[in-house]
Amino acid sequence: MRKTVQQLKPYQPEEPLADLKKRLNLAKLVRLSANENPYGTSVHVNELFKTWSLNSDNRYPDGQATKLRQAVSEFLSVAPNQLVFGCGLDEVISLINRTFLMENDAVLLSTPTFSEYQLNAQIEGAISIDVPVKDDGHIDFDGLIDAITPATKLVWLCNPNNPTGTYESVALIEQFMQQVPANILVVVDEAYIDYVTGVENSSALQLQKQFSNLVVLRTFSKAYGLANLRVGFGVFPLQLAQRMQAVRLPYNLNDVSQQAALVALQDQAFIQRTVAKTVSERRKWEAFLTNQKIPFFKSQTNFIFINLQQAKQVSKYLLQNGYLVRDGLRPDWLRITIGESADNLAVQNLLVKWINSAR
Ligand SMILES: *Cc1c(COP(=O)(O)O)cnc(C)c1O
Repeated sequence: MRKTVQQLKPYQPEEPLADLKKRLNLAKLVRLSANENPYGTSVHVNELFKTWSLNSDNRYPDGQATKLRQAVSEFLSVAPNQLVFGCGLDEVISLINRTFLMENDAVLLSTPTFSEYQLNAQIEGAISIDVPVKDDGHIDFDGLIDAITPATKLVWLCNPNNPTGTYESVALIEQFMQQVPANILVVVDEAYIDYVTGVENSSALQLQKQFSNLVVLRTFSKAYGLANLRVGFGVFPLQLAQRMQAVRLPYNLNDVSQQAALVALQDQAFIQRTVAKTVSERRKWEAFLTNQKIPFFKSQTNFIFINLQQAKQVSKYLLQNGYLVRDGLRPDWLRITIGESADNLAVQNLLVKWINSAR
């Protein structure tokens, strides 16, 4: 076995909700730990499944995801062959690491961030260098620049960032790109970009014309509500996309996922409703936390990162009361997915109860 794999601490996937509910003997359990869309997905996806024909399940799917590729390329105004689709964005992240990293290459991370960047770098025998976010949760771009060495191959920018929820402007990313040597690939993971409000042109995609070392990642798992169907993609500079296609498995996206993502993309009204409801609940969360003097980072996502003493115990307490949230991403911090109104209120009431009993 490769040495790097022997030392690996695997990604901890969510325990199936029904199993956890049974194990804890709970009447109700709501998962607010995985940033899923509480409003489900587009009704068009449900309709697709109602009329789904099993007739062609003995045939391989379209290995190029042609229709989905065309639709996404038009939606984002990029060339169809700039797109590399994956079985979830997770697969694209893994592909980037497999394609570009060699042993002892260095990878720069602004931490805390999505754990899979580090995990995949480690599998390739690369070394990840952590540059902590600033006190307000924002990326320390100067710190990243200072951390660049001749060994640096990849820089990951999660924007907005998981778990801090903070968003960096395209202007700041542009300034950063101007200082990064062109032989270093900068990957901007925009898994939560749909939830950014109050900013025109929030995506780093517009910078690809200027920089040939910039990659932008998207997923159907969050705002589109298709986490179960596993569709994500990267928008690459053309030459890089071709190499990536050669490394990728030929039939990584099944037909069900391709068609579901296509109809989900076409239902932008669902995305707008999702974002409007999430933002309204996000404001209520911010008002609540401000009121309670609980420190938090300004979120542009569908989750909120909050600073609480004994976060682990709080998380346990919430779970006993039917709400699963995420701890362990930073000592004394919890990441809570913004759920449906009644659930957010219930969690907030539980937090007040906890705080009052702790005092
Ligand atoms: C959820 C998430 C992903 C993975 O998305 P999938 O498409 O479900 O694999 C990637 N990046 C970030 C930052 C995420 O939060």
